[in-house]
Amino acid sequence: MSKAGKPETHLALVRRARRINRDLIRAFPHVYCELDFTNPLELSVATILSAQCTDVRVNQTTPALFARYRTAEDYAGANREELEELIRPTGFYRNKANSLIGLGQALVERFDGEVPGTLKELVTLPGFGRKTANVVLGNAFGVPGLTVDTHFGRLVRRWGLTGETDPVKVETAIAELIPRREWTDYSHRVIFHGRRVCHSRKPACGVCVVARDCPSYGEGPTEKEAAAKLVKGPETPHLLELAGMGEAVSGSAG
Ligand code: SF4
Repeated sequence: MSKAGKPETHLALVRRARRINRDLIRAFPHVYCELDFTNPLELSVATILSAQCTDVRVNQTTPALFARYRTAEDYAGANREELEELIRPTGFYRNKANSLIGLGQALVERFDGEVPGTLKELVTLPGFGRKTANVVLGNAFGVPGLTVDTHFGRLVRRWGLTGETDPVKVETAIAELIPRREWTDYSHRVIFHGRRVCHSRKPACGVCVVARDCPSYGEGPTEKEAAAKLVKGPETPHLLELAGMGEAVSGSAG
């Protein structure tokens, strides 16, 4: 629906989706994968560990893990107890250890120990769903991919860009609205906005950069002072400045 209550045309929907994207670029000009990695194997492992766990916690765990396990062969032949102990802080460590050992074995057996660079091959690997595969494709191989995680799904539904809840259907719907070359960074931007501003319980609507195009405006506080308190992350001063609260934050940034 448009704001006037009439059904929104497809063209209007595309325009609104792209306007939201442009506003998100202003809000988050520098986006990146929030998991630390130096090669496709490390990103694959970090993404598997990130299930039901924060990226911060994963990043605290992976330095020791990556120092000890450098190749697919290392994971394939891992001592399970030792591996479980190293990844325990990320939760569900037994299942995750299974995935990592299985991943190492599959890479050694089928891909000469290298992480393959196509969606079709990646989704055959233990621990890999479509989301994990798109994270690895987009960030380790530079192949555009839409990463539909919980933030992404919630936001595009709040924006009325799709009503779908199935991640694959969400991915297909958004792929029709956003140019392919933007998919990876678009995913980061949407997820950044979900983590920092448009929270699941109390979105910071009053200081939101896409408010004019969001049919869910008002789900969270619309009053600026109240909304400003809900913003999280290192971009907070910049985000509040965009909301016209530059002076209010100059004393509280940090
Ligand atoms: S206006 Fe509110 S609901 Fe809409 S994107 Fe912004 S924070 Fe989220």
